[in-house]
Amino acid sequence: MIIIKQGGDEIISGANMKNVPNILWLEEIRKEDIISVGGKGASLGEMASIGLPVPRAFVVTAQAFRRFLVETNLEDKIFSSFDKLDVEDNAALEKAADHAKDLVMKAKMPAIISDDIRKAYKKMSAEELIVAVRSSATAEDLPDASFAGQQETFLNIKGEANLLDSVQKCWASLYGARAIYYRAKQGFDDHTVNIAVVVQQLVHSEKAGVMFTSHPITGEPNTIIEGSWGLGEAVVSGSVSPDKYVFDQRTEKVVDTLISNKKVEIIADGDHGTKLVDVSPARQDAQVLSDAEVAKLGMYGKIAENHYGIPQDVEWGIVKGTIYILQSRPITTIGQKKDNKHMSGQKSEAKIILKGQGAAPGIASGKVVVIRDVKDTGSVREGDILVTKMTNPDMVPAMRKVAAIITDEGGMTCHAAIVSRELGTPAIVGTKTATKILTNGQLITVDGEMGLIYEGLLPQAAAPVQGAAPQRLVAPSSSIITATSVKVNVSIPEAAARAAATGADGVGLLRIEHLILGLNKTPGWFIANNKEEEFVKELHDGIKIVLDAFPGKTVWVRTLDAPTDEFRNMQGGESEPLEHNPMLGWRGIRRDLQSPDQFRLQVEAFKRLWKEGYEHLGIMFPMVSHPDQFIAAKEMMRACGVDVEKVTLGIMIEIPSSAIMIEDFCRAGIKFASFGTNDLVQYTLAIDRNNENVADMYQPQHPAVLHLIHNAIQVCRAYDIECSICGQAGSDPKMATWLVEHGITSISANIDAIAKIREAVARTEKRIILEAARSKDAE
Ligand code: PEP
Ligand code: MG
Repeated sequence: MIIIKQGGDEIISGANMKNVPNILWLEEIRKEDIISVGGKGASLGEMASIGLPVPRAFVVTAQAFRRFLVETNLEDKIFSSFDKLDVEDNAALEKAADHAKDLVMKAKMPAIISDDIRKAYKKMSAEELIVAVRSSATAEDLPDASFAGQQETFLNIKGEANLLDSVQKCWASLYGARAIYYRAKQGFDDHTVNIAVVVQQLVHSEKAGVMFTSHPITGEPNTIIEGSWGLGEAVVSGSVSPDKYVFDQRTEKVVDTLISNKKVEIIADGDHGTKLVDVSPARQDAQVLSDAEVAKLGMYGKIAENHYGIPQDVEWGIVKGTIYILQSRPITTIGQKKDNKHMSGQKSEAKIILKGQGAAPGIASGKVVVIRDVKDTGSVREGDILVTKMTNPDMVPAMRKVAAIITDEGGMTCHAAIVSRELGTPAIVGTKTATKILTNGQLITVDGEMGLIYEGLLPQAAAPVQGAAPQRLVAPSSSIITATSVKVNVSIPEAAARAAATGADGVGLLRIEHLILGLNKTPGWFIANNKEEEFVKELHDGIKIVLDAFPGKTVWVRTLDAPTDEFRNMQGGESEPLEHNPMLGWRGIRRDLQSPDQFRLQVEAFKRLWKEGYEHLGIMFPMVSHPDQFIAAKEMMRACGVDVEKVTLGIMIEIPSSAIMIEDFCRAGIKFASFGTNDLVQYTLAIDRNNENVADMYQPQHPAVLHLIHNAIQVCRAYDIECSICGQAGSDPKMATWLVEHGITSISANIDAIAKIREAVARTEKRIILEAARSKDAE
């Protein structure tokens, strides 16, 4: 049994299981009932009792859950598998979690419980009411024990059968691997932690969002409200950029309003679940909340905060002008004292312990795991924060599992930054000292947008999806039509679906290194060990996934381009030459031209795909410095049996020489050219793109770089050759604007940047047309 102190009251978990009914109505609940109704239920009951507008609800109590375990004889079966569990052993943890969840889901809910739930549901409304079913673990939502997102919520549930099923799913979610792990780490005993389930009328919000009653990091009395159209899930999940309002509790005035372009909303989908839909153009830029609504929300927030004596994280919704408070829980980081684990009323600022370059957006909390050697990545667990000097392609399997990535070295175009953005995993690069300052097991929060690392777990950090790295939805903005194609970059096939969901006009760069390097063997190893077919199949299958995600749209696949140092740790890596400066070394097309076998195997994979009918596959040669290299590569392909005049072959412009000699390339027969600005900048300015010491001198918009780009675009236009960009600079709206103004044909950006690039392109095109029309009028 554990005893938790909350606000001076002792809450005894695991005791007093008798005499509490299966169902409690909101009006009957007070915060002392947390043992029966969980943090969420208790908080809602409390708020209803102080007059806040909470939608109708009842709670299936923790005692009902216990009764379920007892009546179905599940207790021993579940807990015996936890007794000797080492939660650090990922495989064992997952197995125990799956076993427990399975037992809960397969057991039949005893009639003494299901009848009570049915009766309560009927009592809510004469008609079948649509409800939200939310888990409310009895250890959840307590200060300093915020397991946000770890237990399930089901929205838009209608009918008795669906309701009973959702309740049981909530119960099962108590035994998710991450939930078990966190409980173990926070010192909660699994035998005594229960789960209650809140069944609440679903408010079909016309607008909704979240509110921090005080500033979530500094604790200032500024209420921050984020709101968007439709259900609040769009704001909570990050699928939309919400409007932001700041309400100063001291002056009771709205002090800041930031209107965002809200492209999507989540609405109810018929009788079950929800769906993401486009917001009509007229509402996209409209202000969601009036000042009066902001003030009213601020007032409700204040009432909740005063009542609980601690700042709250509140979810709200508005229907036909009526505000509903949907959920409230403490912001755990404000007022936390290290030596008092569970409660504190004192304010202190969340501490920034390290800074770097924000390389992939998102906020995540977790446990630090410092990796000094790629061979140690076995110790990386789901949801950890990977801290390393610099990531390598062979670290990608570990990078998939983690909640965030921090490196000592690197800039916005380094390997860690590129892969993290694609995985949708927050990342900070170039911290210089992360591997020295951060220690294994330390709990931290990473803000991948701002490049800040905070001590401890901050509440706004979403818990990653179990079994996968956190993946944000990407708001489709494909309804905007642009004359300049907006394409997307892909490096790992698993990102293909997310990339396609952006509505991009094709793939402007598919880096195939990751397909090979993820196998942990060098291309040379496959050749030396007679495993050529394995190599070809891996390439073929990986590229096919991307081609299938973009039917009818061009996909430019780049031939291998990995510097030798990235191969070194792999099997076969011992045969790689030691180079003083691999960035200037044996990579890209120069290596392929001297390694006919390696090139031939790639061509074999392309040939199979063309033969299967994937005509939208184009091939792009990297690191080309002279037209002779393009011609030689083309001839090698011809020798491999490719009809080189029929297929689409092009080059990357990554070396100043290729920008300068672009006309010769056009004459040599390239069908397209794409600026690889990550390299073009480093080779034009002599700034190592991965060196954090010179990162501030790495300037994609340096006049010399722009000069090269401008000239090359003009030549390509004259020869009617598609001119594109696939370097990181193409993901910067400012650069995209400049490129459109200078006549680029297409822009290929990162998945997370597509929406903003498409907008920047559309705006620039419209401006150009408008200016042309005006100057014509003036004539
Ligand atoms: C580039 O150089 O801009 C590019 C896209 O290639 P990579 O980042 O893979 O070197
Ligand atoms: Mg490059």
